[in-house]
Amino acid sequence: MTGQKKTDLGLAAIAVALVVACGSPAAPTATSTTTTTTTTTTTTTNTNTAAPAMYARFTSAVTVSVEGTQVVLKSAGVPDHKSPYWPTTNALYEAATAGVQLAPNTISSYSFTLRVPSSPAVATASDTPLGAIGMAVNGVAIFNQYAAGRSPLGAEILSFDRFNGHPQQQGQYHYHVEPLWLTSNSGASSLIGVLTDGFPVYGPKDTDGTSPSNLDSCNGHTHATVDAPAGIYHYHVTATTPYISGCFKGTPGSVG
Ligand SMILES: [Zn+2]
Ligand SMILES: [Zn+2]
Repeated sequence: MTGQKKTDLGLAAIAVALVVACGSPAAPTATSTTTTTTTTTTTTTNTNTAAPAMYARFTSAVTVSVEGTQVVLKSAGVPDHKSPYWPTTNALYEAATAGVQLAPNTISSYSFTLRVPSSPAVATASDTPLGAIGMAVNGVAIFNQYAAGRSPLGAEILSFDRFNGHPQQQGQYHYHVEPLWLTSNSGASSLIGVLTDGFPVYGPKDTDGTSPSNLDSCNGHTHATVDAPAGIYHYHVTATTPYISGCFKGTPGSVG
């Protein structure tokens, strides 16, 4: 999907008329009482090994599989919460809350695939690109701390909805800062998502309720987490830049 690489102009007044309906598929109703006994279909050629434990925390909006040494995450990229950026016909549409300066973009679904190392390792840190740098547990893209041209987010922050997300011109919804829907529902120390280098992102607090004080320039540190008792490097969301990650601590996989 080429849209992944697009920059994020946020408040730029390019009004794109992407009126794509991204409603949730209706759940099929099971009312059949006919018991058809077929004793076949056991051809499950499953060569996948299990993904690391933390991927169990991703919602049903994300398909998780393992291919070789990579975990493959697929989603439609849309939030599971209300936003003024949904088309008004969508059940999740809500009017903008006070103070939100709406950008002229509308949420649309797209094919979002993230391939990350299943056993991430600390490597030479590298800059994160514009566009998706990770996936949140609800399938939404995580972007870095920059707007187009790697300039500070600045006024773009004013266009965030009440859960701190917004769509770019192609309709790709994303979080640059703490996804408040996730931390308010799951807690300040909950798993937020994973970056392309395979390292997890946690909320602003550690499990013991303290705010980490020893984050490195990538916004992370290493210790045991509930998902990785043996210890793992992980990022934390912070209230100030870089908000989620200042750089990739490991070697990034791929997006798209
Ligand atoms: Zn943005
Ligand atoms: Zn920590």
